[in-house]
Amino acid sequence: MKTTPVTDHLTQLTKLHFVNAFLVREDDGFTLVDTTMGRSPKGLIEAARSAGARIRRIALTHGHGDHVGLLDALRDSLGKDVEVLMPELDEQILAGETEGKFPGSWPKVRTRADRRLQPGDRVGSLEVVATPGHTPGHVAYLDTRDRAVIAGDTFTSYGRVMTSDRLRLPFPLAASATWSGEQVLASAQTVRALAPSVMVVGHGPVVRDPIVKIDKALALAKAPVTA
Ligand SMILES: [Zn+2]
Repeated sequence: MKTTPVTDHLTQLTKLHFVNAFLVREDDGFTLVDTTMGRSPKGLIEAARSAGARIRRIALTHGHGDHVGLLDALRDSLGKDVEVLMPELDEQILAGETEGKFPGSWPKVRTRADRRLQPGDRVGSLEVVATPGHTPGHVAYLDTRDRAVIAGDTFTSYGRVMTSDRLRLPFPLAASATWSGEQVLASAQTVRALAPSVMVVGHGPVVRDPIVKIDKALALAKAPVTA
């Protein structure tokens, strides 16, 4: 697990070079945003321990397997007093309450959310921002203390900052799982309008100077598709 300090409150944790989770520091311990995947939650728990606090709650950006993959294992290791927060629509999909198929991997997750998140809800210092598109319920988290934004998979930054509306090199993985490209682009504008001081994403390095890079990504998204 690679650990990258982002702000005074935010640390990026990276597994297998390209899957990120985040520790957000609060007065009572950490909020873990996303869980990566694999079998063992030890790396995440150790990262929190070496940063000096316990994981108090787990908030998800969306329900895809590389984000919720270690949720059950974390719940088992950390116990029931760790609160689990999932965006409403993605929780409905994971709980089998919806009809039809959605793109990407939706693993069987036995942990049910303690709280289903709505836009505008707070998770400690984080504000829940609706950014549907990559999945129906996808959300971003705005740290109200310093305007750091955890943008999930609306953008990727592996190689360059891109929107996940359609397949593009060098990192088509996220876009291959996108539900609505059109809504991804609208949500990319929503993230820009938050005026993020720094942006982190599900896949790729920390994005410093995010407005400039978001504008480049939006320009790229408008450019005609070349074969
Ligand atoms: Zn995803």
